[in-house]
Amino acid sequence: MKKIAILGSTGSIGTQALDICARHPEEYRVTALTANRSREKLFDQVRRFRPEMAGLAEGISREEIPEDLRFCRWLSGPEALRAAAAEVETDQVLVSIVGIAGLQSVMDALGAGRQVLLANKEALVTGGHLVMDLAGRMGKPILPVDSEHSAIFQCLQAAGPNRPTKLLLTASGGPFRTWKKEDIHRATREQALKHPNWSMGAKITVDSASMFNKGLEIMEARWLFGLPADQIQVVVHPESIVHSAVAFEDGAVLAQLGVPDMRVPIGYAMAYPRRETTGVPAPDLFAIGKLTFEPPDEEKFPSLRMAREALAAGGAACAVLNGANEAANAAFLRGEISFGEIYARVARALDRLSGLPGNTLEDIREADRLARLISDGKD
Ligand code: NAD
Ligand code: MG
Repeated sequence: MKKIAILGSTGSIGTQALDICARHPEEYRVTALTANRSREKLFDQVRRFRPEMAGLAEGISREEIPEDLRFCRWLSGPEALRAAAAEVETDQVLVSIVGIAGLQSVMDALGAGRQVLLANKEALVTGGHLVMDLAGRMGKPILPVDSEHSAIFQCLQAAGPNRPTKLLLTASGGPFRTWKKEDIHRATREQALKHPNWSMGAKITVDSASMFNKGLEIMEARWLFGLPADQIQVVVHPESIVHSAVAFEDGAVLAQLGVPDMRVPIGYAMAYPRRETTGVPAPDLFAIGKLTFEPPDEEKFPSLRMAREALAAGGAACAVLNGANEAANAAFLRGEISFGEIYARVARALDRLSGLPGNTLEDIREADRLARLISDGKD
């Protein structure tokens, strides 16, 4: 039986992971659950999965905890995330919270010798070298949950000692793939939140529309698989059936296919190295009929170019891009700025903050803070 702690259990990834736990009660014991603000949802989960610890990042007082849920240890604020990641006795820690907040949790979990199942790509985007270094020293390789990275990871299991020559990172292209640039810049919140293939949390859905998500995923792949950015190609594939692929020097390409359902990559990371049922059927290739591929339009989606430039610049540039994007994404979701302004704000932060160091966690936090200030127009 594997013990699993889930950080961000009330979100899109967290609830799907619990779905798999419920499907295999003999396989998984839930040790800790945390959420940001969704307390009623968290109460229901605690009632059902009976973890040893539960926590709310926004805080909860003793009186607010329902009587029947006082059997478990309740924590508030950053302490809740820290305890779930590193204190509670557990084998696996699924980090499925949003944004740079995940970086500390990943470091805490690795430092405590836990197996990290990583949905939170922002941890690798901002602190990739620190995370990979610690994972290496602890002998606990990160298991990717992001569908593209899980696909690449699965393909590499079949590669033996052979190193890939290229990673083919697929992208749906998001809801604005066929739109004109001017229309994309005027897109509304509702339009950006309508992803053609995947149902996900709001932040990543907006990132998918702007294609900053794919830019972040280039960075994530660079750290997870150790290939330079020029060997990571983005391939737009609107059907979202090929979740990514890997090319080798003999001309062979291995790909992983599946219907767009995150329970497959979540379940793969949880059960690794085995496979077990997830409730997801294999794709019906006759019903799908054809799979199409096209190059990304970097003129319409400057996010991809910005991501490659930030990776090439090194230092804290990726953390700057991420912080400015997190702030602009949130401002867009609050209805304060246009969609096009997201690109302008990230570009401005990258321009103003070139050359910042990114050696330590403190460097990265400072870069993130400054990038948010510039993005929000407060500096
Ligand atoms: P979500 O918004 O649906 O859920 C986020 C969860 O984390 C919630 O439980 C929320 O309460 C908690 N949370 C959010 N911010 C927090 C904070 N600052 N401190 C503590 N808790 C916090 O998000 P999601 O779509 O499940 O995405 C989670 C992560 O997984 C993101 O990094 C995202 O990029 C990544 N991811 C998601 C998907 C997907 O299909 N949803 C796919 C690939 C990668
Ligand atoms: Mg992805």
